[in-house]
Amino acid sequence: MKLTCPHCQEKFNSKDIKQMNKSSIYAEKQCPSCLAWFCQNKKLTLIKITGISLLLLTSVLNILNIYSEYQLVFSTVGFVGIFVALIITFFGKNEKVGQPNT
Ligand SMILES: [Zn+2]
Repeated sequence: MKLTCPHCQEKFNSKDIKQMNKSSIYAEKQCPSCLAWFCQNKKLTLIKITGISLLLLTSVLNILNIYSEYQLVFSTVGFVGIFVALIITFFGKNEKVGQPNT
């Protein structure tokens, strides 16, 4: 996956990133070119996490057969959730963040 640094506009491959702040839910990354930090837009990241959680939650409900009369509703909600999460993963913009306080 190609990423663009919001600081220096340099394009690089996500596997070129050497530093990543995993203590943040926003997955802050360091640009290999200018060494500045960035992450995906925080609002979008929250929506993405919600989408993935929805898929997990609705899948668990379906597997355990809880509220089986709503199975179709759960499947639809889960599908929409993961669909939105995927769109954000591929088209979400990166934004600048400060140095992580580690
Ligand atoms: Zn950069």
